[in-house]
Amino acid sequence: MRRCALITGGSRGIGAAAARRLAQIGYDVALTYRTQRLQAEEVAAEVERLGRRAIVIEADLADPEQARALVREGAEALGGLDALVNNAGYVQRMDWQDISLEDWDRMLRVALTAPFLCAQVAAPYMKDAGFGRIVNVASLRAQTGAPHGAHYAAAKAGLLGLTRSLAMALAPSGITVNAVCPGYTATDINREALTTKPEAITRQIPLGRAAEPDEIAAVIAFLCSESAGYITGHTLNANGGMFLS
Ligand code: NAP
Repeated sequence: MRRCALITGGSRGIGAAAARRLAQIGYDVALTYRTQRLQAEEVAAEVERLGRRAIVIEADLADPEQARALVREGAEALGGLDALVNNAGYVQRMDWQDISLEDWDRMLRVALTAPFLCAQVAAPYMKDAGFGRIVNVASLRAQTGAPHGAHYAAAKAGLLGLTRSLAMALAPSGITVNAVCPGYTATDINREALTTKPEAITRQIPLGRAAEPDEIAAVIAFLCSESAGYITGHTLNANGGMFLS
């Protein structure tokens, strides 16, 4: 059966890897970007080489109207929507006392308000299809806090509450809603830290290394698959064992 997925922030990193993984399990894919159009188009071309349809959509998720519109655009272009992966995000390393109200608001709009609005627009399409998967990409920092990114950690922790709330609300419609909490993953978000002080990071990780984006994408794809139909409201940690020590 043909399925359609929308991935926010599909131009790079975890979102790009998720686009490839979802294509491999039979999803046509709409992927969004904010700045990296060429990279988004390259990911779309890879999806098409895997035999699936792909479209790219430009959107700044800090703008609530763009967040709503991108879901409508993706669903109309693909002819439906079965899965939504709320993945787009960014980090801003700063002491909590230096976070301005503008920094705080933008972070919450991208990392929490946009996933909420995208889910609001996506759910009716999923109800029509009688099948739905929503995966919210949160973070290890939702659980541990972040001394140099309090707004990021707060937004991601909010995303876990949203995940559980929507899981309860949408279960009667057969739509599952889950969260993934990646630990350190080798993407542009933390490329500098992983390059300049790799040991400071890897010594915190029982598995001794950062994740590859595809290892997080595999978890996202599982939660979007038919096989994960009895899992909802769950937070799946993919952090190399960081809660073990
Ligand atoms: P990445 O490689 O920097 O990719 C970020 C993606 O989000 C890009 O596609 C980017 O679009 C998009 N994006 C950023 N700000 C946006 C905005 N305002 N509006 C629309 N799109 C926006 O990062 P990543 O590591 O793959 O991160 C993906 C998700 O995983 C994020 O939610 C992040 O918080 C989470 N995460 C990552 C790690 C990690 O260690 N990497 C750990 C825990 C959680 P452009 O390319 O067009 O700029």
